Amino acid sequence: MNGRVALVTGAGRGIGRAIAITLGARGHKVALNYRNSAAAAGEAAALINGNGGTAEIFQADVSVPEDAAALAEAAAARFGPVGILVNNAGITRDGLLMRMRDSDWDDVMRTNLASVFYCTRAVVRGMMKARFGRIIAISSVSGLVGNAGQANYAAAKAGILGFIKSTARECASRGVTANVVAPGFIKTDMTNALPDEIKKAVIPAIPAGRYGSPEDVAEAVAYLASDEAGYVTGQTLAVDGGMTM
Ligand code: NAD
Repeated sequence: MNGRVALVTGAGRGIGRAIAITLGARGHKVALNYRNSAAAAGEAAALINGNGGTAEIFQADVSVPEDAAALAEAAAARFGPVGILVNNAGITRDGLLMRMRDSDWDDVMRTNLASVFYCTRAVVRGMMKARFGRIIAISSVSGLVGNAGQANYAAAKAGILGFIKSTARECASRGVTANVVAPGFIKTDMTNALPDEIKKAVIPAIPAGRYGSPEDVAEAVAYLASDEAGYVTGQTLAVDGGMTM
């Protein structure tokens, strides 16, 4: 087990929180980014520290380029150069295309796609220099197969695939990998907000017959973040109970 410095965006709750806790348990020093909820992020960091790990919280809105750059700098100043970046922060602004507002499009693009660029750019130089890096971005099955009512979200999540594959090609010869994890329906606040009829309707489309857990996603991330995954790059790993096979 090689302890690296891991930066996880949007780590205060849901999938990001589970990723932070899992990476902490694997011996990595974890920088948990949050935007608003210092208390929730602090509680996750306390859990990691309480279990013998090392974690600290860092406020930043990763959809703002200066914030993303400052976040990477602050994490590196505290723990050393970032070796693992998990681009997890994301939002939804669902609605039918014909009624979608410019702000619904722009907010989702900035938070779900531009932030991946801003954060990756902020850490990649250090990774190239260190000849080690693990860049992971959380996309979605919506980005793989589309989803009615999520044209903005699916476009941003599909954009992540092109960005990560290009990053993977640019960085492969320096020991830096870049991969995507595409979750299906995972039990978090994001999916809890869906109407009940949609929540019920998706189950028959999932061969596993259940929603996934944040921990299901975190384990896939932990593998891609590991030293052992050094020959895996430019890939998209769906963690979706078989939904998009
Ligand atoms: P969530 O809403 O519970 O958590 C998202 C986190 O991101 C929150 O803590 C939020 O504060 C943070 N965040 C949002 N904008 C931010 C910003 N600008 N700067 C910093 N932090 C910001 O959602 P979740 O379900 O845990 O989703 C995590 C990721 O997984 C997202 O990228 C989401 O699109 C993706 N995803 C989720 C599901 C699912 O079923 N829940 C499925 C596929 C993909």
